[in-house]
This record gives sequence, structure tokens and C-alpha cells, in this order.
Amino acid sequence: MSASILWFRRDLRLRDHPALLAAAADGPVLPLFVLDPALWGTSGDVRRAFLLRTLRALDADLRRFGPGLVVRSGRPESVVPALVAEVAAQAVHVSADFGPYGAARDARVEEALGDVPLVRTGSPYAVAPGRVLTNDGRPYQVFTPFHRAWVDHGWRAPAESDPASVDWVGAPSEDLPAEPDVSGVDLPEAGEAAALARWTAWRGTPYDDVRDRPDLDATSRLSPDLRWGTIHPRTVLADLDARNPHAATFRKELAWREFYAHVLHHWPSSAREYFRPELRGLPYVTGAELEHRLDAWTQGRTGYPIVDAGMRQLLAEGWMHNRVRMIVASFLVKDLHVEWQHGARHFMRHLVDGDLASNQHNWQWVAGCGTDAAPYFRIFNPTTQGKKFDPDGGYVRRWVPELTDPSVGTYPEPIVDHAEQRAATLEAYQLLRRHG
Ligand code: FAD
Repeated sequence: MSASILWFRRDLRLRDHPALLAAAADGPVLPLFVLDPALWGTSGDVRRAFLLRTLRALDADLRRFGPGLVVRSGRPESVVPALVAEVAAQAVHVSADFGPYGAARDARVEEALGDVPLVRTGSPYAVAPGRVLTNDGRPYQVFTPFHRAWVDHGWRAPAESDPASVDWVGAPSEDLPAEPDVSGVDLPEAGEAAALARWTAWRGTPYDDVRDRPDLDATSRLSPDLRWGTIHPRTVLADLDARNPHAATFRKELAWREFYAHVLHHWPSSAREYFRPELRGLPYVTGAELEHRLDAWTQGRTGYPIVDAGMRQLLAEGWMHNRVRMIVASFLVKDLHVEWQHGARHFMRHLVDGDLASNQHNWQWVAGCGTDAAPYFRIFNPTTQGKKFDPDGGYVRRWVPELTDPSVGTYPEPIVDHAEQRAATLEAYQLLRRHG
């Protein structure tokens, strides 16, 4: 019996894997990962290192049951059909990809495969984008009604994929690239077993009490796992205890992730363009001033401790706490007058959980031009935010040691005056509203 190829992308696990179940039902399965230069080339070192570790963990898991992961590099529309021809595969199985790049890539691969089917089963979401619609069949543009409809729609129980009962087959494989030097970077352990362990250790946490406190660092830290699919959201949702008073809040956070995937699916241009174009005309800095401000912001040297702490955490861990992501994003757009796309690009390059849908739409939310636009006049004050959410200063001290220990270095003066910039932003906004 000829094999089916299971092409892994954002689903780097073996449990709760609907596409694996579908592939195994057809007979022997050949596990494939394609290193696509279009995606690899836009990732920073930390992101690359985390992906490589995740792939190594997947390979080690597969080797417990068979010959291991087959790695090929190149454009998927060439590489996948070539492997199909090499092993005379009968089908290629995937989890559906709903991002603009992934969907277009899959259409090209499907065409190149000719008579060999590309079978899409499952997705990285509890409810696949496109399923939750208003009563008259239109996509929701606002989170709250989407969330209600998403809960009403519901989701399936986790898929019972069992890697031990699969007839795995191999093929010649390329070596994975060498890991970039990320010494000094504190990456979470990668792979499915680590993701499940993270979830199990965290799931009893009183989420509502701690979720806004970067100093406590007590959120689930599941975002890289959800991004690369080492855990499926349905595994988590099935495991949330409805009697836990914090379960509803956590489920709602997972729903934001699903909502933004839904928005990107229906409005793919929102990855780059303003969702609400009215704010496109605000004045933003350009040229040398743009470079100077971006430099200070990305290096964590703005002179605003909570902003600098967050930006340094991003470089050091490839991750940042949600509250701080909001503060640093607001500061870039509304205090430094840098257009949101610059910040979003820096985040995508460095975040291990960098996800086009969640990242671009959260940036648009902060900038005031997204779906559930935070009113433009709501401007985060970096000083009061720091006092409120890092009350003892533990978070700031960890990342900006020179504040309390001058022997470590000199801390810069504030790059701008928040009160002045806030006034300038509000004035520009009023002008835009009056004159368009
Ligand atoms: P928890 O608080 O434990 O939440 C659990 C899960 O819910 C998260 O893992 C995530 O999948 C989801 N979630 C929580 N908040 C959000 C949200 N606001 N939007 C979408 N999903 C959410 N999240 C990403 O996964 N990738 C990104 O690229 C990303 N970029 C962001 C950029 C900005 C400017 C902002 C303000 C937020 C961004 N977020 C992004 C959302 C959020 O900050 C992270 O999901 C969260 O900090 C991850 O940590 P956690 O897993 O401990 O979260």
C-alpha cells in the first residue's frame, strides 16, 4: 500500500491531531516538514532557534515509533510534489492554514500536485475561521458578539490520534540547519511534552487575580505552543474545569486568538492595512527621526522604565507580558508617533509566539484603528501603568538593573515628555476628525 504524506506546518505535535488521524486511516504515513525560505528568511534568530528546537522534539517523538521526521527545504510547490513522486504517495494530508500566505501557498501546492489530493483536516483553532457568522451570514467585526456566537457554535472533543498505532515510514532527509547563537536568551522548553507539562502545571492558577501583573509572571505562557501547534486549543478547552471561576476569563482569551484569525481570514489585507482607514492620515515621523525613535524603542532605551523593561524582555526571551505589550505599543504609536506597522514588524521578527493574526490586530487595536478599536484618545500613561501593574517595581528592576544599580550603566533621560506628546496626539486626532 502506498504511503500518505503528513505535511506538518503549524501543528507540530502527535496528540489531538485530526490530520494525523485522517492520514493514518489511509495506511502508512510519511511525516514531512518543509523549510520554506519565504518564512525562514523573515524570522529573527530567537524565533528560528525555537522552531528548530520544536522540530527536533517532534523528530525525537516520531523516532519512538518509526524512522523520524523527513525534512526538505525549498518552495513547497516544488518540494512536496517532488517527494510525492519519489515515494509514489497517494495523498498529502495537512491541517488547514487560514493565513493569507499559507492559504495561497496551499493553493499553489494543490495545483502542482495534479491528481494527488491535498487533504485538509482540522486547523490550529477550536473553530475554523469562516464558521462563525452572523444570522444573515456575514462575518462579525466586533469581538463581544463573535465570542457569544463562538461559544454557542461549540467545538469538537479532542481527536484521539495515537502515534503508537500509526505505520510510520521514512525517506531520505536533510539535516536541520544549525541553531543560531542564542546564548543569553532564555527560551522555554520546546515540544509537545513540554507544552502539555506547561499546561498541566499552570491550569489551576487563579488567572483573574494575576493576569495583568507582569511582575508576577503568572500567565499560562502557552502562546508559543499555540502558535506552533505543540498543543491544540481544544485540548486546553476540554481540560478547563467549568467550576473554576477563572475558566471563563481564560476561555475568553483563547477566543481573542480565534477572533483575530477569523478577522484575518475575512479581511486578509488587515495584516498590513488599517482596518479602519480613518486614522491613516495622522502625522507620523519619518526619515532620521523615525530611525532614532525606533532605535531607542527597540533597544529599550526610551527613559520610560516599564517600556524599556518590556522591550528588553522581548529581546532576551522572545516573549513579553500582554499588559506590557499594550504599554510599549501605545508608547510607540501615541508618544513617539511611529506608525504601528513598524512596531508590528519588530514584534514578528522576535516573538516566539509571533502570529500574524494576533500580532497585527492587537497592534491595530492599540493604535485605535482595529476591529474593537480602543478609543484613540485612550492613551496609556507609562508611569501610572507601571505603578499600577508593577506596584513593587520587581519587573522593571529585573530588566532595567541600572535604575537601582548605576554601576551597571547609565539610564537615559526620557526621550519625550509624555504629557506633551499626549496633548499633541489628541490635537492631531481632533484635527483629523474635523477635516478628515
Ligand atoms: P495568557 O494570558 O495565558 O492567555 C492564554 C492564551 O490566550 C494566549 O496564549 C493566547 O493564545 C491567547 N490570548 C491572550 N490574549 C490575547 C490577545 N490579546 N489576542 C490574541 N490572543 C490572546 N499573542 C500571540 O499569540 N502572538 C502575537 O504575535 C501577539 N502579538 C501581540 C501584540 C500586541 C501589541 C499585543 C498587545 C498583544 C499581542 N498578543 C499576541 C496577545 C498576548 O499578548 C499574548 O497572547 C499573551 O501575552 C501570551 O502570553 P500567555 O500565553 O501567557 O497568555
